[in-house]
Amino acid sequence: MTKDNKTPSTPPKSPATVTPAAAAPRKKLTLNTTAFQKKLSSISVNNILDEEPDYEKMPSLAKTKRNREKQNKKFKPNLTSSQKIVREVVIPVKISIQELASRMSEKTGDVVKALMKSGVMATANQYIDGDTAELIVTEFGHTPKREEAISLKDEIANYQKSTNSDIKARPPIVTVMGHVDHGKTSLLDALRNTNVTAGESGGITQHIGAYQIQHKNNPITFLDTPGHAAFSNIRSRGANLTDVVVLVVAANDSVKPQTIEAISHAKAAKVPIILAINKMDLPDVDPNIVRNDLLSHEVVVESYSGDVLETEISAVKKTNLDKLLDNILLQIEILDLNVEHNKLAEAIVVESKIETGKGSVATVIIKNGTLKEGDHFTCGSAFGRVRALLDEEGKRVKTAPPGMPVEVLGFDSVPLAGDIMYVMPSEESAKDITEKVKEQKKLENTASVKKSSLEEMMANVSKGEAKKLPIIVKADVQGSLEAIVASLEKVGNDEVKINVIHNAIGAINESDVSLANSAQGIVIGFNIRAIPQARTIAKRDKVDIRYYSIIYELLDDMKKMLSGLLTPDTKEEIIGHAEVRDTFSSSKLGTIAGCFVTNGFVSNSAKIRLVRQGKIIHEGEVGSLKRFKDDVREVRENYECGISFKDYSDILVKDEIEFYITKEVKKEL
Ligand code: GDP
Ligand code: MG
Repeated sequence: MTKDNKTPSTPPKSPATVTPAAAAPRKKLTLNTTAFQKKLSSISVNNILDEEPDYEKMPSLAKTKRNREKQNKKFKPNLTSSQKIVREVVIPVKISIQELASRMSEKTGDVVKALMKSGVMATANQYIDGDTAELIVTEFGHTPKREEAISLKDEIANYQKSTNSDIKARPPIVTVMGHVDHGKTSLLDALRNTNVTAGESGGITQHIGAYQIQHKNNPITFLDTPGHAAFSNIRSRGANLTDVVVLVVAANDSVKPQTIEAISHAKAAKVPIILAINKMDLPDVDPNIVRNDLLSHEVVVESYSGDVLETEISAVKKTNLDKLLDNILLQIEILDLNVEHNKLAEAIVVESKIETGKGSVATVIIKNGTLKEGDHFTCGSAFGRVRALLDEEGKRVKTAPPGMPVEVLGFDSVPLAGDIMYVMPSEESAKDITEKVKEQKKLENTASVKKSSLEEMMANVSKGEAKKLPIIVKADVQGSLEAIVASLEKVGNDEVKINVIHNAIGAINESDVSLANSAQGIVIGFNIRAIPQARTIAKRDKVDIRYYSIIYELLDDMKKMLSGLLTPDTKEEIIGHAEVRDTFSSSKLGTIAGCFVTNGFVSNSAKIRLVRQGKIIHEGEVGSLKRFKDDVREVRENYECGISFKDYSDILVKDEIEFYITKEVKKEL
């Protein structure tokens, strides 16, 4: 909090700067109730955050009584009084209603009532976000002053002071991606073993998920990502770890779903792709099929006059690997990989774990500077001092220069993949930054500052910031998919357009959600659902998934979104899912599904969708819902029940039933 020295009349503890009304031009203080209500009704109830009971601050009996008396008085904001003082009220990212009232020197009850009158239910201890608080402050006639979130980046940069010396290129960091079984692991193994000097017979066991090889005296760092989702997860933490993606496509199998996924991830990250057509040792394979198939995904290879470098290789026969490495070196010539080798290191966590005897350890790749034993560092919510550095073979090293993957011992807790590790000049500064990071995270969690991806996009549209809205489309059949993508690309105008960054057939998976998260976009499912793991991540990361079954409704919504007007009259809320474990037939009810409620709850008045292998095969209503022999209205998570549908009987074991309700949403003008 900045203290304003110019106004000594401010009580030292009060964060509000008091400006006597006489000093400032007198503002006309009338409460524009209708406008206020309109504004407030646009605030979603989600802005009200869960109560954070602070038991030390529990009100005394007398205070409770006073509060009750206050609330019994009729709500009339004290706005006409001639002694009204206009305050500059500092608003942080989140604030409790009580605190806000105190900063405005208004009564808590008045603030609560002001919110309540417009349908936002909140109690004094609850937190509201900065936007909501700003409206309240304005309506009470004060001047809001939004507090800038402290930029930790700046603070870290101050500590890390650049030396501007010893600037030279670091080794490129390469990620191998592609469809399962196309030979990623074989290629990484081949590159590594080919590189092992003749003396080391039998190869060496790789110790960590990254390693460096030498090619014509140029070091190249390879990263073994466990999946495409991991690639985007690291990116969504703000770390751009990869300089080049090697896309492995098996010549005998050509382009497959995960090939397309890999292309989308690489493109969204703006990382250049190098193509490796693998398994060329197999008889009768035609690499041109791969080249052709890639054309429809806008990957145009050099031999087709495009700019994607390509090599035909065999990972098992180790043919043409040199040419692939040449291509990598060629590709990075156009990238600026110059970094300061001399400064305090900055590294990115690739993976982390707890190991007995070692404690929390992390594999990191140095991006900038040189990491040394004994260095103090901060890394996400963790901090520590480098106790030991182990190279890819598990050998101890004293220092690690840029581009080098190393295992670091000495973390006080386990960092997350994608967290950035910064070396600090002292233990105090490392601790100080870590504390601030933790505090900010706590704040973000309670304040729910992160809006849903759709809200974020809409806000960017109305601010005029968004030019291209990233959308991922998944559909049940190729025909619909093509029609949707083609129509979506026509939606929009010169200012804003839809950018379909990935489209594919099949259920929405984790990779789709993490791609949407890192690109700050949304996922659209057409006649298709998200798999449970994807739902979990979407909920955690607040990625919007929108389901449609009618193309024009989808296009309509997207058009509205582009004009910043998307406010559907009805909002769908999924209340729970049940899994079909058994089926019985009944002469009266048709098929009865013996179900297990996997999450939420199911209700006999909700609408249902029957989902088989990710595809919606029926939409309708519940016929009967039973616990044992009894009809019931609801069944909760982890309970079994019998369900039949109205006028529908094709239910199979392993089908999933989605229960949803539709809510009316107030339409804005
Ligand atoms: P990943 O799932 O992409 O990591 O694929 P793997 O490296 O595990 O390889 C899958 C299968 O393809 C294994 O049985 C490999 O032996 C085989 N394979 C990989 N590269 C080649 C190759 O160049 N030629 C042939 N014939 N088989 C290969
Ligand atoms: Mg593999």
